[in-house]
Amino acid sequence: MTTDYQQLWKNRKLYVPPMTNSGARLFAAAFRSIGIDAVEFAPADDETLELASKFMSGEECFPLKVTAGDFLKVIRQADFSKERMAVFMPTAEGPCRFGQYSPFFKNLISSMKLAPDDVIVLSPTSKNAYEDLGSHAQEFKRTGWRALVCADILRKILLKTRPYEIHPGETEQVYDSCLAEVAATLEVPGIKPADRLQKLVQVLTRSRDRFRTIPTRRDVSRPLIGVVGEIFCRLNRFSNQNLIKKIEELGGEAWLSDVAEWVWYTNSEQQRKLRLFGKKYSRAMLAAKLKNHFQRKDEHALYAPFHQDFTGYEEPEETDDFLALSNPYLPQNGAYGEMVISVAKTIYLHAQGVDGIIDISPFTCMNGTVTEAIYPRVSRDHDHLPIKNFYFDGTQADLNRDVGIFLELARSYQHRKKVKRPF
Ligand code: SF4
Repeated sequence: MTTDYQQLWKNRKLYVPPMTNSGARLFAAAFRSIGIDAVEFAPADDETLELASKFMSGEECFPLKVTAGDFLKVIRQADFSKERMAVFMPTAEGPCRFGQYSPFFKNLISSMKLAPDDVIVLSPTSKNAYEDLGSHAQEFKRTGWRALVCADILRKILLKTRPYEIHPGETEQVYDSCLAEVAATLEVPGIKPADRLQKLVQVLTRSRDRFRTIPTRRDVSRPLIGVVGEIFCRLNRFSNQNLIKKIEELGGEAWLSDVAEWVWYTNSEQQRKLRLFGKKYSRAMLAAKLKNHFQRKDEHALYAPFHQDFTGYEEPEETDDFLALSNPYLPQNGAYGEMVISVAKTIYLHAQGVDGIIDISPFTCMNGTVTEAIYPRVSRDHDHLPIKNFYFDGTQADLNRDVGIFLELARSYQHRKKVKRPF
C-alpha cells in the first residue's frame, strides 16, 4: 500500500449507499478486501425522508433524497473524535441528474461545517478511475464487479423461489445467510483474482443447493411480471414501497431487471462513442473491449452453477443486439440512458413470455415520462402486452389497488398470449 493510500484510509470508515441492500453489502465487502473499513448504509426508513427534507429544495430526484437522508442518519450517529468518514458516490455524465449527486454531497458536507477531513466523497469517474484507491484500483474494480454480479444472482434466485415457498419467510432466511457467506468470501484480502473467482463459484454453488432444498409449490398460473425502469427506484425496496413483494402477495412473480444491465449499457455506450469520434482502432477501444471481455468472462463463471435454475429466465447476452430492440421507438444513438434500456427490456421480456411489464420510476424523472409516452405503441406492436408505469416520490400510494388491477390485466393476457413460457 502506498503511504498516501494508508493516510487517506487510516481510521476512516467508508459508507456505501444501497441501490439494493444486498448489492451495497457485497460492494462494501469488496472494499474490505483492499483494506478499507467499509460498511453499507442502514436500510432507509421514514427518518430518512424526514432528515433529507431539512436540506433539500424539493426539486431533487427522489433517489438523491433517499440517499442523502440515509447519509444524514449516519452523520447523526457518527463520533468524529474516533473516526473519520467517507461516502461512496459514483457519478456519470449525460442528461441524468445523477451527475449532480456527488457535488450535492460535497455541498451538503460543507454546509454542515465539519472539519475538512472529517468526511470525504469517494466519487470515481471514467476520468479519475478510482485514483483514491491507489495501486488497488484495478484489483478493486474486478472484485467490485464480481460483488455486483453475485448480488444480482442471489436476488434473481430469491425472486424465482419466494413466491412459491411453502413456509413463509424461509427463502429470505436462506437468502440472508447466502449473502453473508458470499460477503465473507469477497472480503478476504490478498487473494489472486483467479483464486477468488473459484472460491466465489464454490460458495454460489452451495447457495444454489440451499435454495434448491427450500420446499416450494410451483404454480404456472402465477402471472410473471417483468419489472423495468429507473435503476435506483426499481431496486431500492423503500423507494418503491416494496412493490416486488406486493406483486408476490397479490399472486404474481417478478422478473426484476438487474444492476449488471446498466454496466453492459455503459460499456456499449463507451464503444459507440469511441467509434463516433473516429477511435474505432485505438488503445481506448482496445481497453474498452478488454474490460467488457473480462466482465463477461467473470459473469459466465458466476452464473454457470445456475444454468438449470435460470432456464427460461436468461438475461440478454449480446448488448448491442439487445439495445437494438429499442430502435423502432427510442434508438440508442438518438435517445440516452435508462429509457432505451427499459423499452428494449420490455420487448425482450415479451419474447420470453412474460405476462405484463411494470416500469418503476421516480416522480419527475424523464425516463418514466418518456417511456410512458412510448409504451402504448410498444404494447400495440406486441400483442397488447399490459404495461404500466408506477411513479414514486415518498408519499404513500394505494399499491394494493393498482397492482391488483394490473395483475388482473396480466392474467387475462396470460390466457391469450402468443409467446408461451418454456415450461
Ligand atoms: S434517472 Fe431520473 S431519478 Fe434517476 S438519477 Fe437520473 S434524473 Fe434522477
